[in-house]
This record gives sequence, C-alpha cells and structure tokens, in this order.
Amino acid sequence: AKDGGKNNYQFYACEMNASLEEKLALMDGLRKAVDEQQLRLEYQPKLDLESGRIFGVEALLRWQHPERGAIRPDQFIPLAEESGAIVAIGEWVLREACRQARAWQDAGLPPLTISVNVSPRQFDDLRLEARVAEALQQSGLAPRWLELEVTESLIMRDVQQAVAKMRELEAMGLALSIDDFGTGYSSLAALKSFPIGRLKIDKSFVRDLANSADDQAIARAIISLAHQLQMRVIAEGVETAQQCEFLRANGCDELQGYLLSPPLAAAGIAALLQAGTAT
Ligand code: C2E
Ligand code: CA
Ligand code: CA
Ligand code: CA
Repeated sequence: AKDGGKNNYQFYACEMNASLEEKLALMDGLRKAVDEQQLRLEYQPKLDLESGRIFGVEALLRWQHPERGAIRPDQFIPLAEESGAIVAIGEWVLREACRQARAWQDAGLPPLTISVNVSPRQFDDLRLEARVAEALQQSGLAPRWLELEVTESLIMRDVQQAVAKMRELEAMGLALSIDDFGTGYSSLAALKSFPIGRLKIDKSFVRDLANSADDQAIARAIISLAHQLQMRVIAEGVETAQQCEFLRANGCDELQGYLLSPPLAAAGIAALLQAGTAT
C-alpha cells in the first residue's frame, strides 16, 4: 500500500529485503536524533476518578525523522534499546519531562505528576540515579512530582536487583509505578517488596472490557491486588464510557486513554488544565 502500484507479494519481498538495511539506517539515525533535535514529547493526561481531576501526565516520546516523518515509539524504542542509544535518549526524555513539568508549575498551573517510561537498558544503567538527580536539579522540579514507569516484565527479570534499585530511587523522593501490569508473570510474593505506588492495568485487558467476562475478572483481580498491597491502580487505553463505568464501579482509582484525551503537545495540556481550573 505504501509503495503505490506494487502487488502484495512484491511488497512483502521488498519489506523483507529492506528490513535489515532499514533497521541499521534507523539505528544510525537514532544516534543523531537527540543532537539534531528530532525528538519531542507529548503528554497524555491521567484522571483521578474520585475527584474528577487531572493529577498527572505520561510523557510519550515522538521522533520526527527528517525523511520518513513521524515514527512511532513502538518502531524505534526497541531499536534504541538494542543499539544502546536509549540511554542518551532516555536521559533527554528525563530532562525534557522535568523541565516541562516545572515550566507548567511556573506558569501557575496546578502541579502535575509527570510519568516517564524507563526501558530495561536504562534501568540497568549504573548512572540512572545520577541522571535522574541531575534532571531534577537542573529543572528545579521537586522529586515528588516525578514518577518512573517500569514494566512488570522488567522488574521480574531479577527481583532482588530491581528491588534494590527501586528502593534507591524511592529514597530520592520520586514515585514508581508498574506499567503493563498483567502481561508479565509476577511473583505475587515479590510484588510486595517493591516500593511501588501504582499499578497500571495493561490496555489489552481494557479493550474488550465491555464484552469479555475474562477481562472483567482480570481487571477486578488487579484492582483488588493493588488495593491489598496499598497501591493505587490506573487503567490505560480507556476509550469508551462503558469501559470507564466498569472501572469506576469496580473501584479503579484512575484512568488514562482517548476517552479523556490523546497525548498532547505541552501547550495542549496547559489549555486543558486552564479550562479545568476556570470552571
Ligand atoms: P506505554 O508506556 O504502554 O504507553 C501507552 C501507549 O498507549 C502510548 O502509545 C499511548 O499513545 C497509547 N494510548 C494512549 N491512550 C490510548 C487509548 O485510549 N487506546 C489505545 N489503543 N492506545 C492508547 P505510544 O505513545 O505509541 O507509545 C508506545 C510505547 O512506546 C509506550 O507504551 C512505551 O512502552 C514506549 N515509549 C514511549 N515513550 C517512551 C520513552 O520516553 N521512553 C521509553 N523507554 N519508552 C517509551
Ligand atoms: Ca507507560
Ligand atoms: Ca502501558
Ligand atoms: Ca504497553
């Protein structure tokens, strides 16, 4: 489809051929993306279901490639992870997210928790704590407004090491949450040793929530587990009023998804919050 007149077979063959070369070209491009200012962040609001307030945003990375245009994170984060470029990119994300969160506060908006995604290679980086401390210090953002999202599968690879690292981060005053919960294999015993404030129900369980008894049971189980461990629970990928109603009725604390808002540029978040405080 992308290549106009080609039939499916040729298109498929082309993709196969191009893939390695393309992958290497993208990896090469990623090394320069930070310096050449091709990266930017969008921010997706998170809603507290009890108060009806937006309490935070998740920073989501965007790559504006000079020739290819916008490239989705699912297509380049894994490559950046493989090449190691994710460490420099992740550092830029941290700095930019903290800077923006502080800029909103300085503009007089109600303070928001800013969540930043941390990938495995970044998490393993021995200098992660130092990089986080630097981003906070340079921006002047108080640590309590920064949250790191780590995936369930990441922390379950090596529980002891992950617990130690997360305790250090917690001691710095920031918040931690588990992303994509339900997609990995958690040791429930291990879960309680993590200093985690929030579990995020993966969107794969939210998608069919209105019709799937299985997904309803999973969502309820995650909500109950989170609450028993004194954690808050947020659902991602909430697109419909039915999904929202189910989650609310079953005690989910917070939600994120297109129903509330897609990820927005920084100015869009400011406008949304201003509209909220004006009424
Ligand atoms: P994620 O952390 O699970 O982020 C949620 C994804 O769901 C985002 O995709 C978001 O745009 C999308 N989304 C939000 N609301 C809805 C909805 O209502 N329905 C559906 N179907 N999707 C929704 P996005 O922005 O394409 O990011 C994809 C993934 O890339 C993220 O998944 C995260 O794993 C990774 N990523 C994004 N930014 C960063 C970053 O700065 N650093 C790292 N390490 N990874 C990142
Ligand atoms: Ca996330
Ligand atoms: Ca997620
Ligand atoms: Ca995900």
